Amino acid sequence: METLKKTLRTIENQYGEEIPAAVLFQENGQLYLWEINCLSALHYGLGNCHCVNHPVSIYYPVSTNDVIQRFGSDALDGFEAPSDAQRIFDAFGIEAEELETALRVAYQIGANPLPALRKKTNAPVVFSENPDYLSFPEEEPGTTIFVVNGRGEISVVTVEGRQEEINISTEPDDDPVGTPSLAIPG
Ligand SMILES: [Zn+2]
Repeated sequence: METLKKTLRTIENQYGEEIPAAVLFQENGQLYLWEINCLSALHYGLGNCHCVNHPVSIYYPVSTNDVIQRFGSDALDGFEAPSDAQRIFDAFGIEAEELETALRVAYQIGANPLPALRKKTNAPVVFSENPDYLSFPEEEPGTTIFVVNGRGEISVVTVEGRQEEINISTEPDDDPVGTPSLAIPG
C-alpha cells in the first residue's frame, strides 16, 4: 500500500539548514506523526545532545483531531479519507489491532467490554455478528456506528442517507405501457 507523507513543520539547525521537525505519514489510511523529540540533538545539527537516555525522534499513531488541533485542517490536504482503523483510533484512542485483541480477551473471560467502549466515544457502539444486516433508522445519515462481534472484531458502519427514498424514486419506470393503471384510457 502507498504511504503518503507531508512535512508539517521545519526548524533551522545550527548550520542554517531547514530540516523537518514534524512529518505526517499516512499508511493504509492511518495517520502517524514523526517528530524530532530532542531539540538539542547532535544528530540533526541542533546542539550537543547525544540522545543517550531519550529518543532522538518519535513516531506514533495520531488522531485526526490532534493533527487538526496542532497543525490546522490544511495539514490533511492531499491525504486519503480515513480508514476504518483511523476512525477506530479517532474514537477510542487505541490502535484497532490492539483494541480488537483486548475485546477478544474480554469475551474469552466472559466480560462485556462494550460499556467501557461507550464511555470513550459519543458514537453508538453495538454488538452484532452480522453488521451487514443492521439498520439504524433512528440515526442521522452520516453517523458513525461501531459494531463489535463475538470474536472481538470491530466494523465501522456509516449510516446511509435517505437510502429508502432513493430506491422509491427510481422505482417507477418510464414505460407507461407497462403500467396497467396508466394504460387504461381516461
Ligand atoms: Zn537529546
